[in-house]
Amino acid sequence: MYKISFIICFLSVSFFAACTGGSESKADAISADSMKSNIAVLASDSFLGRKPFTEGETKTVEFLQKKFREYGLQPGNGDSYLQEVPMVNIKATAAPSMTVKGAKGSFSLKAFDEYIVWTDKADSVENLDNSDLVFAGYGVVAPEYNWNDYANLDVKGKTVLVMVNDPGFWAGDTTLFKGKTMTYYGRWTYKFEEAARQGAKACLIIHNTAAASYPFSVQQNSFNTSRLLLDTRGLETKNCDMIGWITETAANKLFKAAGKDSALLMEANVPGFKPVDLGLKVSTSMTVQSTYSKSYNVIAKINGAKRPDEVVLYTAHWDHLGVGKPDASGDSIYNGALDNATGTAGLLELARHFNTLTVKPERTVVFLAVTAEEQGLLGSAYYAKNPVYPAANTVANINMDGLNRFEPTKDIIVVGQGQSELEDYLKTEVEKDSGYIAFENHPEAGYYYRSDHFNFAKAGIPALYIETGVDVVGKGKEYGEHLHNEYTSKDYHQPSDEYNATTWSMAGAVKDLRILFNVGNKLANEEKWPRWKEGSEFKAIREKQPLN
Ligand SMILES: [Zn+2]
Repeated sequence: MYKISFIICFLSVSFFAACTGGSESKADAISADSMKSNIAVLASDSFLGRKPFTEGETKTVEFLQKKFREYGLQPGNGDSYLQEVPMVNIKATAAPSMTVKGAKGSFSLKAFDEYIVWTDKADSVENLDNSDLVFAGYGVVAPEYNWNDYANLDVKGKTVLVMVNDPGFWAGDTTLFKGKTMTYYGRWTYKFEEAARQGAKACLIIHNTAAASYPFSVQQNSFNTSRLLLDTRGLETKNCDMIGWITETAANKLFKAAGKDSALLMEANVPGFKPVDLGLKVSTSMTVQSTYSKSYNVIAKINGAKRPDEVVLYTAHWDHLGVGKPDASGDSIYNGALDNATGTAGLLELARHFNTLTVKPERTVVFLAVTAEEQGLLGSAYYAKNPVYPAANTVANINMDGLNRFEPTKDIIVVGQGQSELEDYLKTEVEKDSGYIAFENHPEAGYYYRSDHFNFAKAGIPALYIETGVDVVGKGKEYGEHLHNEYTSKDYHQPSDEYNATTWSMAGAVKDLRILFNVGNKLANEEKWPRWKEGSEFKAIREKQPLN
């Protein structure tokens, strides 16, 4: 055994020396042990799944501040490590069923089993009382694709039934939207935003595991639980009274009662599709209790030595789902070890490492741990609307949500292929380390719209988001895919997403973090401003910003 360990030790020290100009001691290097000890704390049962507005938040926010101080970083928000995020906790309780009336008589659907509903309205919610039901295809209004599922239809006060993902998904036609790569129009958040803009009273998305890229149980988990939203009192906002998901089986029951069938779903893929009034009326009710309070983004920085007003922004969300519905083993703590104790520990590790550099970066490097990502990317949405560092001064965002727990991979996956030049920075660093960049295996899942970098992208800031590779060194792609699928099907948003001190070597995370360090360090020591690429929906936003 001895011989093998010596070789590994020699290789690693030389790797570290090579990447940072030889001055770095092992203690300063990005370390698996340091990450593991922080993950063990963040993902422990005593942190209660780190849900905002709970004791889990208090412990997490204190721990992050303590660590940033310990690593010698400066407060990132004036003399504070905190940015308050005003939020509201909405506890919606839906009636156990929904009545459907039609020409062929009436029947009811069972809440939880056949559909789930909630509301984003913090105050009074109007119940559905014989609300007209309309099928509006994908519920998309996309001028750039000459697509309007609401054309010539007034849905004010009605309930719209829409499909998840976008027309490119089922049609398999690469010219339709972005083909199999989900656009933001495919995201559930977009469906509800558009239905509200159209004045609908309620919107139900038809669930399909392949098109949604997760099972209906993920939605059921949050049924009749409390939800957190940003406190938008005093701001102009539009929301439906009720929003939710319905199973495909239940949707087919509705089509049948309307004298239609599931062929309607395929018709929605054809350009020029016209929304269909189903001639049915739905009724159900809901009660709402709201509590206003604050959550916190945690922020630290290393001031730039030459251009302190220019900022490189690393992010990771510290929150997870808290304590919820117990699983089959009776475990009700959603520890969120991979999602996202790994990313948060990665943020701390980068901060620690950057602050050991003898030569300080020319630009300011900011480390932002955001709240309430699981509630809808809320902490980053609030920061993007209330930036501590203006978007026009922010060179780039590098977001981490889930890092590699196991052995290193040869590849690193870029989420959002072809979005920005940051992809090229990454490619250079990965290839330096004889690896390669790969693209999403599941572009239909729309991961680019499912984590915090999306809010920075919407503010025009070029944003990089990577996913763990699958080409595991010495074990290959099949093994890596298996690990990915196993996590998605078994542990994603389940109490079983727990830290395992024996099997989690974090060696893969250390390798990927070094690459993200090199990308950020390069950005922080140059005068260039990376740009969005042609065809990116965020390019126009950046071009309007007066960059330094
Ligand atoms: Zn996450």
